[in-house]
Formats: sequence, structure tokens, C-alpha cells
Amino acid sequence: MKEWLELAQKKDAQDALAKYKKEFYLGEAVHYMDGNSLGLMSRPAEQSLLDVMEDWKQHGIDGWTRGDRPWFYMSEKIGEMMAQIIGAERHEVLATNSTTINIHQTVRTLYQPTDERHKILVDDLNFPSDIYAVQSILDDYGYPDGMVKVPSHDGHTLSTDTIIEHMDESVAMILLPSVLYRSGQVLEMEKLTEKAHEKGILIGFDLCHSIGSVPHQLKEWDVDFAMWCTYKHLNGGPGSVGGLYIHEKHHDVGVSLKGWFGNNKETQFDMGHTFDQAPDISQYQVGTPHIFSMAPLLGTLEMFQEAGMENIRKKSLELTDFMMTMIDAVLEDYDIEVVTPREPEHRGGHILIGHPQAAGINAALKSKGVIPDFRAPSYVRIAPVALYNSFEDVYHTVAILKEIMDNRLYEAYENRRGVIA
Ligand SMILES: *Cc1c(COP(=O)(O)O)cnc(C)c1O
Repeated sequence: MKEWLELAQKKDAQDALAKYKKEFYLGEAVHYMDGNSLGLMSRPAEQSLLDVMEDWKQHGIDGWTRGDRPWFYMSEKIGEMMAQIIGAERHEVLATNSTTINIHQTVRTLYQPTDERHKILVDDLNFPSDIYAVQSILDDYGYPDGMVKVPSHDGHTLSTDTIIEHMDESVAMILLPSVLYRSGQVLEMEKLTEKAHEKGILIGFDLCHSIGSVPHQLKEWDVDFAMWCTYKHLNGGPGSVGGLYIHEKHHDVGVSLKGWFGNNKETQFDMGHTFDQAPDISQYQVGTPHIFSMAPLLGTLEMFQEAGMENIRKKSLELTDFMMTMIDAVLEDYDIEVVTPREPEHRGGHILIGHPQAAGINAALKSKGVIPDFRAPSYVRIAPVALYNSFEDVYHTVAILKEIMDNRLYEAYENRRGVIA
């Protein structure tokens, strides 16, 4: 094991992003590996939240337009910062609502079904909320059987060819994840977008598991729409406000869920009863923005801009590569299966391992200061995050896993999930 530790330390010594670890509060976790569920709090995020609270203290109602970070424009300001890390233009990206509400809002707005073409293509492995939202929209539009799910051949990944085979003349829209939340597979967004457009189908991606970990070029790829949360890899804090991208070519469609914050800012306070839709992405806002659930993003996104998405991706791939290589080498005697695709271009920022005793293993890891998460029935997700995890964290995670397996420490725990897993 000593050679693995030395290797990790050597990699840490050469890591240009290592300096960011001290910007984060590591709390009780010795080795936090759950940044794909809830990213850690950073000093810049804390500071920007405190700054915005100070503005409330100082300015009261006038904080909407005064102070360094006026609340009236904060959704757009954060949108602009996020646009840079996903390859879109500032008037196409907004911080607003939650991922699920943004699915309702965008799909309802852009979906224009006819009896011949009304299917919405999703996949068998997606997150439940995305599926519930799409199904409820289909129900409301009178096409309850309109959902088509691309099957997975192995229960973990999706084949690009299979997705493309499902793009036929009956499909109006496609909503897929960029990175699958369980296996960590990255879909080929550019190719899928090109194929969808050849068939006249609108396509959007849920970026919850890729934003802040994988670079995107949404505009260049011509993606129609995308939404994401900001509390995973972007470290915006629990329940922080979601993000939304709509290609500018769709900005003249009448937005479905209308509210006064979607109104043109110039006329919003005329308080007229005729909706004057904002010309840009702002039209997708509904009501008053959740300022304190956005403020931490001002700080954390500055860090992302400084660190650079390409550097973050490079380190993230090195971390997961080191983890998988070490698991292969030191845990070969156990029934542990690495489910995540091995090829760098096909994997995101976390890995998924399978074992029949996974819930017990997860609990044993937590008791020893490693924080991963369990996914039923028998998987553990481990996310080494570029900005706050070191190669030595990865070493200790695998070393502790080996200790648990060698001594069957998982037997001390019930092999089932808790309320949140
Ligand atoms: C995390 C996640 C969500 C969560 O949606 P919220 O509206 O923020 O609760 C939805 N979809 C996917 C794919 C996710 O990973």
C-alpha cells in the first residue's frame, strides 16, 4: 500500500488546483466523496452570502437596486457567470427556480405536439423527478402514452446508437441527462443534438451531474435547452437555485408559466395586466427570486472561473482514473464491480461500484470518515471533486475500503438504506 500512498502524494505535489482545498470547509468529513449530491461550503460562497445579508441590513427594500450585488439583476448576473462555464451566451442563461420546475417550464414552453408528432423521448435510467415532470406534462396535453424510454442494455449505461434509433418522426422532443446520476456515464451530447436536429426533433439535457465537473459547449453544439441544479458540483448550498439555458432561437416562443419576473424589466413596475415578455432568458423567471439561495453562487462561481473548467475536468479524470486503478489493484479478491465506463470521454465526475453488501459497506465507510452515498439496491457512488479532494483523499478512501473488506466490517451494519440515500 505504501507505493500507492507515495504515488498519491506525488500527484498532489504536481496538482495546480491543490490550493483550492483550503478554501472549503471540510467539517466532520475526513474524506468527503459526496460532492455530486451536495457540494461543500467554501469561503467565497460564505462571504458572498454574508455580503448580501449585509445589503439587506443596510438597504432594506433598496437592496433590490443598491449595493454591490443588486438583487433585481442577480438571476441574470449568475446566469452570465454560469454561461461561461457551459459555453453559452449571457442572454441565454439564468439562475432561477429548481431543476424540476425548470423542466416543467421549458418542456411546456417548447413542446408543440401534433397528433402525428407528440412523443417525448427520455431514458430508462433517468432521475425520477425528470420522469414525473415529463409524464405530468404529457398527461396535461392529452398524450398520456407519449413517453418513450430508451432502454439500457446493461442496466447502467445507454448506447448512443440505441438512442438515435429511437429518434423517429413521432418524436417531438428529447430530454436526456448529460451524465447519468448512477453510473456516471457522459452522453455524447454533440452527436445526439446533431442527429435529433436531422430528424426535426428538439433536444435538451439535464446537466445536474455535469455542470461544474465536465465542460460543455451548448451553443456550439446547438443544444435547444438545458437545466441543472447548483448544489451538486457548483457548491451553491442545500436547495440553491437552479439554472436554465434556452438557445436564443427559441426566445420568441410565449413562455408557459408566466409571472411578473418574466416581464420586461423596463415595464415590470408599470404593473400592467398585459404580460410584456422579456426579450431574453429573463422571460423564464416566474416570481421573486430566492436571493439568499443564490448569493453563495456569486462567490463559488468566481472560483470556477479562476480555476477553469478544462483544468477541473483534467484533474477530475485523473482522480477517478487513480481511484479505479487502485481499486482494480488492491481489491481484486473481492466481489467489487466498477460500473462506470472506463474511457475518459464516457465518464463524468463520479464512479459507481457494486457489491451485494453495498449498504453495509457505505455505512462502514461513513463511520471511518469517508462520505460517499449509497444507491439501492447494491451500489455506492464515490465522487472525488477536483476543487477540494486530493489524490491522497482517494488513496485513503480505497485503503479504508480495503480495510472494511479485509475485516468484513460491513457486517456490523444493516444492509439497507436510510431515509436519505
Ligand atoms: C439532482 C437532480 C435533480 C433534482 O432536482 P431538484 O428540482 O433540484 O430537486 C433532478 N434531476 C436530476 C437528473 C438530478 O441529478
